[in-house]
Amino acid sequence: MDYRKLFVVEPGKRVKLDKLDADYTGKHCSEDRAKAETKKYLDKLNDLQYLLYSEARHSLLIVLQAMDAGGKDGTVRHVLGAMNPQGTMVTSFKQPTAQELKQDFLWRVHPHAPARGMVSAFNRSHYEDVLVVRVHKLVPKSIWSRRYEFINEFEKLLHRENETYVLKFFLHISKEEQLRRFQERLVDPARNWKISEDDYKEREYWDDYVKAYEDVFAKTSTKHAPWYIIPANQKWFRNLAVSQIIVAAMEEIGMQMPKAQVDLEMIRRQYHQALDEDSESRPDEKRRPARGAKSKK
Ligand code: AMP
Ligand code: MG
Repeated sequence: MDYRKLFVVEPGKRVKLDKLDADYTGKHCSEDRAKAETKKYLDKLNDLQYLLYSEARHSLLIVLQAMDAGGKDGTVRHVLGAMNPQGTMVTSFKQPTAQELKQDFLWRVHPHAPARGMVSAFNRSHYEDVLVVRVHKLVPKSIWSRRYEFINEFEKLLHRENETYVLKFFLHISKEEQLRRFQERLVDPARNWKISEDDYKEREYWDDYVKAYEDVFAKTSTKHAPWYIIPANQKWFRNLAVSQIIVAAMEEIGMQMPKAQVDLEMIRRQYHQALDEDSESRPDEKRRPARGAKSKK
């Protein structure tokens, strides 16, 4: 199953979130059955990220949005966790500081866009400026309603100017599942710290958030920066779908392992010369074969 096709929001299309099943798990009936496939994608992600880093031409920006307890942190842990930390960056966007509020809304975001070769994840993002800001009327409509256009231009800039592939994921949980996760946070001492005083107050705005998200999808899902709505009530399915989509998008970039920038023949001669000198100076020592050398059998 190609989850890119299944979950993408076609540009300009309006979706109704309550028509989409947050419990969907495709052909997989259990986490156990999906394990092997998920592992395959996570391994591939690791290889592709190595290639992206080596080539240092393109970059990847993964935007994660969800209702509270939607699984953004877990997705970062599983999906970004499959990659080499050296080539990744995660930024969590919280309430803007006083200084940030004095700037335009993209000012605090742009420095975290990935450099060539890097994978960047946004845990919340510039979309909060047309979500929480709209729902709580933090700025007037005349201001937030212009922002979709700025967002599209910003993402286009990242893509055209810096070959950044932008993938945006909405982790779709149901209202019942949110309450279940809130309960888990209460019961499990290891999750207590995640509880926020605003959780239940925010939950009252669920329908307003749904409306704001539906507008986001209709106005900002573009060919160069598509939105994917991921059924996320089952965490294991969410991880499977998100990793498959990222793998497919990275494979499509057409990356190639870069050729060495140096004269390999010359370096090889230098290596063998150093090896000879070394064995002459310590003739009795038994040597391990060079790494990557074929063993003689
Ligand atoms: P959390 O993700 O649970 O750590 O919470 C971060 C909080 O920061 C959420 O309540 C967000 O809605 C809020 N937040 C993030 N970005 C903005 C923004 N641009 N304006 C206002 N609140 C924001
Ligand atoms: Mg929260």
